[in-house]
Amino acid sequence: MAIIPEWITEWIQKDRLVGNKFRISQSYLRHSKRIQLARSERDTESGLERFHYVVHSPKYGRYNVRYERGRYQCNCPFFKHRGICSHIFGVCRLTDIWPERESIFNHD
Ligand SMILES: [Zn+2]
Repeated sequence: MAIIPEWITEWIQKDRLVGNKFRISQSYLRHSKRIQLARSERDTESGLERFHYVVHSPKYGRYNVRYERGRYQCNCPFFKHRGICSHIFGVCRLTDIWPERESIFNHD
């Protein structure tokens, strides 16, 4: 069972749309082929991890979820609104690697 950061849990409860995306991410986790690792690398010196997953939405096609330095990005439309989406939630729950709060709420 994944450990969800508290600020994420609060966000899901407060923001109905974000909560909805979190629930949708469950369907990606139920079908393992919908979340596929495309690329992953770890810098041996700094220990920094970077990865790229392709998430297959049955309705809308493929989306690219990228992670680097505590920050996630996705090329779906909802990501532009909230800085998170069902695809990112799916990858977070799969990897247990969550975004840093600052990467979502303090960017201008
Ligand atoms: Zn997305």
